[in-house]
Amino acid sequence: MNKVVSVNDYLKNFPHTSFRSNQEQVIEQVCDAFNSGYKHIILEAPTGFGKSAIAITIARALGSSYICTATKDLQTQYTHDYKLLKVAKGKSNFLCRVKEDFIEKGKYFCTSCNSGSENECRHTSCEYGPCLSDESMEGTGCKYRTFINDYKTENKGKENERTLISREKLEYYKTEYSNWIHLKNFDTPREWNPCYYFDQLFQALKASHSIFNYSIFLSLLTNKNMMQQRELLVLDEAHLIEAEIVKFRGLSISKKRWRRYIPKFKMVDYGYDIDGWLDFLIDLEKTILILIGYDSLVYSLVKERKVKYGYDSKRKAKARNKRIVSASELFEDDSSLEIDIKSESGKNLIHKELLIDIVQDIEKLTRTINNILSSPKNWIVSEVHKENYDVVRVELKPLDPSKYIRTIVEKCSKTLIMSATILNHITFEKNLGIDSEENKTKFIQIQSDFPVENRPIFPLSVEYLNFSNLQQVDIKTKISRAIDNIMHIHSNDKGIIHTTSYEQLNFIKENLSKLNSRRLILTDPEIERDEVIKEHTESKKPTVLISPSLHTGLDLKDNLSRFQIITKVPYPNIADKWTSEKRKINKEWYYWQTAIRLVQAYGRSIRSKDDWAKTYVLDSAFNYFVRMNYNILPKWFLSAIRK
Ligand code: SF4
Repeated sequence: MNKVVSVNDYLKNFPHTSFRSNQEQVIEQVCDAFNSGYKHIILEAPTGFGKSAIAITIARALGSSYICTATKDLQTQYTHDYKLLKVAKGKSNFLCRVKEDFIEKGKYFCTSCNSGSENECRHTSCEYGPCLSDESMEGTGCKYRTFINDYKTENKGKENERTLISREKLEYYKTEYSNWIHLKNFDTPREWNPCYYFDQLFQALKASHSIFNYSIFLSLLTNKNMMQQRELLVLDEAHLIEAEIVKFRGLSISKKRWRRYIPKFKMVDYGYDIDGWLDFLIDLEKTILILIGYDSLVYSLVKERKVKYGYDSKRKAKARNKRIVSASELFEDDSSLEIDIKSESGKNLIHKELLIDIVQDIEKLTRTINNILSSPKNWIVSEVHKENYDVVRVELKPLDPSKYIRTIVEKCSKTLIMSATILNHITFEKNLGIDSEENKTKFIQIQSDFPVENRPIFPLSVEYLNFSNLQQVDIKTKISRAIDNIMHIHSNDKGIIHTTSYEQLNFIKENLSKLNSRRLILTDPEIERDEVIKEHTESKKPTVLISPSLHTGLDLKDNLSRFQIITKVPYPNIADKWTSEKRKINKEWYYWQTAIRLVQAYGRSIRSKDDWAKTYVLDSAFNYFVRMNYNILPKWFLSAIRK
C-alpha cells in the first residue's frame, strides 16, 4: 500500500536550518508525486543544488532507506554530512583482525606472497580472511566474526538511533575470545573487538538508513535474504547506473589471471560468436570445478541447465529450447553459487588466498553463464583482445540493463533517482525499463543558478575531430598547439584537459612546450585514480590534469581548476563492440550518452555559485552537435556557450 506522508512531515525532516534555492519546492513536488502514486521519481538538478539533502529529507520522512552512490568517496561525503547513515563498504577496504594480530606483534608472514611485510602483501584485507579458506575459522571459528542477529537497533527511526551488539552477545564473544587457541600465538592479546568488515555491514543492514556504493549493493542483492524491504531506494549519480550494472553483470576472462589457476590455460579464438564463447565458458567452469575437487557440482549444473534453459552441452547451443526466466529465478541462480571451499579435497594443492580468488571467479563465471542462457540475445562479446594473434582476454557484456533493474528497485516501495545529467529522461526511462504504466515515473528538472558569466564556454573550432582526422599528424599538431596557447594564457592556473583516448593524451604531452608539458599530471589505467588527483590537489604549482577518464565524479572546486579544455565532442568509442551494438539498437541512446559526457566534463570545474572557470572546446563539430541535440542539452549549459 502507498504510504502517504504530508508535505509538512517531509519539510520538517529537512536536515539543515535553511533551504537553498528551489529545495523546498522540489520537496513539495516529490511529496505530491509519491502521494499520488508515482513509484519512481527522477530528479535532475545541477551540482551545488544539494540533492543529498533532498534524499535525506525524503528518507527520514518515509522512515527507512537504502542510498546508493557511485564511489567510496561519495559514501564518505554522505556519512560526514549526515550522521544517521550507516555505511557499508566491500571486504577489500578492511584489515582482517586475525592478520592484524600477527602484524602488530611483528609475526606476520604470508605464505602466498612469501612476504613478511604487510606493506608488500596483497592479502591482509578481509577479502582474504582465513574465515573464507580455513575450515577451523569458518562460521563461529573466527572469534572476531559477528552475525546479523547479534545486532539490535535502539530508538529506531529517531534522531538518536543506535545499532549495536546486544549486551549478552558481547559477553559471550568476550568469553569465547579469551579461550581462543589463536591467541596462544601472542603473550598479551588485544581486547576483543568485532571484525571490521562484518561489523560495519551488519550495522548498515540493521540501521534504518544506510549508504552503499553500487558495487557492494549489487553484490549484496544476489543474496535474496540479505537485504530487508525498505521504504525508499535512492539511486544517486544515476547517469552511471547502466555502466554499474554492465560492470557487475559483465565478465572478463584473461589468460594471465586464469593461468594462475590452470598453468596450461589456452583461449580458443571464437571471435565475436557468443555461442562459441558460451561453450568455452562452460568447459572452463567444469575444468576449474574439478580442479578444486567440486566434481559433484558439475553434474548438478548440467542437469539444472538442461531443465531450466534447455541447454545440452553435447548438442551445443543451436538446439536450445529457450524460455523466459523471471527475476526471482535469476536470484536463485545467483544465490545458489555459494561454494564451500573449506570442505572439499582437491584444494590442498592450491594455496588458500589463490583458492579464494578461484571461488570468486567461479561464482562470477557461473552467474554469467546462467545469465547468458536465460537471455542469450541480450549478450554480446564486446572485446577480443589479442597479442601476437593469440587471444589473451575476452569480455562479455549484457546489452539491456532493464533485465536486471527489477531486482534493484523491488527492494523498496519507492525510488528516488538523482543526477546532474539525466538530460533525456524518456531515453533514460526506456533504457532502464522504468517507463511502465503500472509503476509510474515522474521527472523533475531544476536549472542551474550559477551565474553564466562565471562559466563561459568558448567553442574554438580548431579542427573537425573524427577518427580519421585524428590519425593525421598535422591535425593533432594543431590541437596540441591550441592547448599550448591556452596553457600559456593560464600559466598560473590549475586546470584540466579532457581527451577521448590515451593515444591523444600521449601525442599532446609530447608536442607541448617543455614548460607546459611539465605541468601535466596524467591518469594511467595502472595507477589508482585517487593518487593522481591527490598529486594535483596537493601541489602548489599550476598543475594541469589530462585524462580520457575524468569527465565524471571529480570535484575541482575553486583554484583546483580555473580552465578546462574539451578536445573532442566525447562520442563513446564505437570501436567497442558493446557501444556499437547499443548505437545500432538505438541511435538516440548514443547521442544522449555523448551529451551526458559533455555536460559532465563541463561540470568538473564550476562547483558553486562563487566558483568560476573557463571552458574551451577545440572540436569544430561541437556547434553541430549542440544544434542537433538542442532539445536534450540543459538550458543552463546552452546559455553559457559564447558565440
Ligand atoms: S571474520 Fe573478519 S577477522 Fe575473522 S578471519 Fe574473517 S575477515 Fe578476518
